[in-house]
Amino acid sequence: MDIGFIGLGNMGQPMARRLIEAGHKLVVYDTRNDAVAPLVALGAQLASSPQDVADRVETVMASLPSVEISRKVATGEGGVIHGKRIKRFIDLSTTGSRVAADIAATLAKKNIVQIDSPVSGGVGGATKGTLAVMVSGPRAEIDQVKDALAVFGKVFVIGEKPGMAQTMKLANNFLSATAMAATAEAVAMGVKAGLDPAVMIDVINAGSGRTTASDGKFPQAILPRTFNYGFGTALMLKDVRLCFEEAKGLNSPSQVMATVLDQWEATNKEFGGDSDFTVIVKMVEGRAGVTIGREKKP
Ligand code: NAD
Repeated sequence: MDIGFIGLGNMGQPMARRLIEAGHKLVVYDTRNDAVAPLVALGAQLASSPQDVADRVETVMASLPSVEISRKVATGEGGVIHGKRIKRFIDLSTTGSRVAADIAATLAKKNIVQIDSPVSGGVGGATKGTLAVMVSGPRAEIDQVKDALAVFGKVFVIGEKPGMAQTMKLANNFLSATAMAATAEAVAMGVKAGLDPAVMIDVINAGSGRTTASDGKFPQAILPRTFNYGFGTALMLKDVRLCFEEAKGLNSPSQVMATVLDQWEATNKEFGGDSDFTVIVKMVEGRAGVTIGREKKP
């Protein structure tokens, strides 16, 4: 099918590439030229704005870095809402349920359906097509795009109400964020007591402490000290903050969320939003006065 794709960053780039490889015709837009160039080279058409994308196709997907940008691209000046052909807007970004519902209500006034479709599984999952794709929106509309979304990974229909998939995504990412913060503290404690961090990670992965932090992020980006897992600190902070607000809004317990949020705020303050989120380990190392990694101690 003809699909518009807005936001070709760490996630959008491999997802858009997979759509092209699956035979879909893409119209792409990003504010960065270097983001669109590889897709244009693969045959995608280049648009000049979100509105221009929405003038050309019925189905528009977006993978954007902040709630403000999602709102602007969807409903702001030059946004998809002003497009002539668009029928459905599929937001692959993490925005939280309130923003998703707001965007859905505003687009509905122009007879555009919003389908919420946040994803989980990182850049690796986006590249391999193994993401968890969480979808909420009108069932008939989801059926129209389910095959295209299946190119990204396993599709889970969460419900019809706008934002339900966002709540699912926030619950998932809170757990991922918590695993990173907690594993950093656990391993720093061990290193401070003289344990080898590589052995610790092996034991944790063979034991009951195993998480995506211990079996993915630590072996791949922390023990080798590359700190390049492909997810920005600002994005993780956004997700944890949205989750905390979501729980508060529902009057659901959020004590662990508040503590974890505090850790990500400290990481963001110390290393900046553009840093890779794995630097939370450096923040903990600084506080502990140790280094976690494969370097041999003198
Ligand atoms: P990113 O910052 O790498 O990419 C965002 C892209 O949007 C960039 O290419 C940027 O130039 C573009 N952009 C910014 N403003 C724009 C505008 N006004 N119009 C068009 N394009 C614009 O972010 P990402 O890591 O690809 O994440 C995108 C979304 O996916 C976020 O909501 C994030 O929370 C979510 N997500 C990311 C991951 C991950 O591992 N990176 C995993 C799951 C979900």
